[in-house]
Amino acid sequence: MPAESADVVVIGAGVSGLSSAYFLARAGRDVVVVDKGIVGGEASGRNGGMVSERVDEPLLIPMAVEATELWATLDEELGHPTEFVQEGRLQVAVTEKDMGDLLAERDVAMRHGIDAALVEPSEIRDMIPGITERTLGGLFFPNGGHANTQLTVQAYAWALQDLGGRLYQNTTVTGLRIVDDRVTSVETTAGAIAADVVVGAAGPQTGLLAELAGVHVPVAPARVEILATAPVEPRFPIALVGNGLYGHQAVRGNLIFGGGAHEWTDVDLTTSPGKPNTPLIRNIARRLAELLPGAADAPVIRSWAGVVEQAPDYRPIIDILDYPSNYVVVTASAHGFGISPATGKVVSELVLHGESSIDIRGLGLNRFADYGPDWREKRGWIPSPLRY
Ligand SMILES: Cc1cc2nc3c(=O)[nH]c(=O)nc-3n(C[C@H](O)[C@H](O)[C@H](O)COP(=O)(O)OP(=O)(O)OC[C@H]3O[C@@H](n4cnc5c(N)ncnc54)[C@H](O)[C@@H]3O)c2cc1C
Repeated sequence: MPAESADVVVIGAGVSGLSSAYFLARAGRDVVVVDKGIVGGEASGRNGGMVSERVDEPLLIPMAVEATELWATLDEELGHPTEFVQEGRLQVAVTEKDMGDLLAERDVAMRHGIDAALVEPSEIRDMIPGITERTLGGLFFPNGGHANTQLTVQAYAWALQDLGGRLYQNTTVTGLRIVDDRVTSVETTAGAIAADVVVGAAGPQTGLLAELAGVHVPVAPARVEILATAPVEPRFPIALVGNGLYGHQAVRGNLIFGGGAHEWTDVDLTTSPGKPNTPLIRNIARRLAELLPGAADAPVIRSWAGVVEQAPDYRPIIDILDYPSNYVVVTASAHGFGISPATGKVVSELVLHGESSIDIRGLGLNRFADYGPDWREKRGWIPSPLRY
């Protein structure tokens, strides 16, 4: 049975909600986290585990750089392991267009003082044994890395509980009670919880949740898929991006790789959007065999889908609202795992001080003030028959 009250109620036990809850608890706040399912049961426990400085989204760089620094000591900070490996992230080009994109990203990195170096095909083959001979070049970010997603969500959750934070799983939020301009309590399937502050970190359901408070937050859900092979040798510790894929080799040797396409879907407030796999996995497996011919015989032992939260401009929305004035919207626009330590820091600072020490300009909700309820249709971001 949930507590009757808390300083802060966080809705969603994914990485965004759990990290926010952890940093708030560390600052002495009495925090309750509620989730309709289990810790990391959605995208946060199903993703590729990639951590990077996100030069593909310049407005996200301050958060991503801060996150990369926080990741370096996160196991120590949380007191529980995440299997974070910081041996760098290599982006390889297999087409002339990829090469042009790499050079553009190198320029962005240089402008922002991010360590990134162009590498020759021969160096790439030394860094990633068994990689295709077709690479034209690569861009290496020494600060990038990868972590174990399941361990990470659990680490945040245990660290929160170590600080006295409470976590209620299988507890769905069904309503937000508003008096004057504040949310006074969060209504759940197990009862109401009075709150001074509410953090809505519900992933693809973030928009539906905000609607309960009469606030429009444009977030579209999209299915993304990922696969794991049996362990392969030789090993490489570097996170790898190329041939339309991203991924890494887990500590136990499994290749874990995912990639597009995004498939627009719908979610509701109460059910789990994760579904079994589609033939898209065959397409990912083919691209992986092209990228790493040396591992082409590795059996695919597992594959799964997750649903990402996508804002119209592909950037997170992190904001403490004007109305309701004690409601914080947190949604990561599919960048959430890597930036999660910074997300928690930003949210705790917004709650405690009303502003963040990390530059989050460009991540506010008001940039979508002109977006009506039909924005998805206008963009064509609506579910359609699958094509492979
Ligand atoms: C296949 C895949 C690969 C990805 N790869 C990467 C990657 O390599 N690197 C990276 O940085 N990001 C990656 N992402 C994106 C990343 O996983 C997400 O951005 C991130 O996990 C979002 O975290 P979150 O906590 O905001 O949302 P979620 O993980 O979706 O968590 C939201 C939680 O809210 C709960 N909830 C929803 N509605 C309610 C309700 N009414 N009541 C109570 N609880 C509710 C849900 O049950 C859920 O647990 C990937 C995503 C997928 C699916």
